[in-house]
Amino acid sequence: MSQYRIKVDPDLCIGAASCVTISPETFQLNEENKAYVLDHGTEPTERTYERVVEMDDSEKEQLIMAAQSCPTLAIFIYDESGTQIFPEV
Ligand code: SF4
Repeated sequence: MSQYRIKVDPDLCIGAASCVTISPETFQLNEENKAYVLDHGTEPTERTYERVVEMDDSEKEQLIMAAQSCPTLAIFIYDESGTQIFPEV
């Protein structure tokens, strides 16, 4: 398991929900039609646009696919050292 910091920029998010379709255990839409970040197993907070989550490799692959699916690239992912791993810089 590794830790990743997941951030949704609510100003970029247009509520297209492809991230929710691919990774519903990580992303859900709130009442403002913005994707917020769930922590697997803990109570979701509908305005949490940024969160550190523990993931195994397959969960991480799914997370990257969800981020790639976002039409506005509103999802940012950082590894434990704080390096941005998506979108690639
Ligand atoms: S795919 Fe992107 S635009 Fe669509 S809900 Fe997710 S973060 Fe928002």
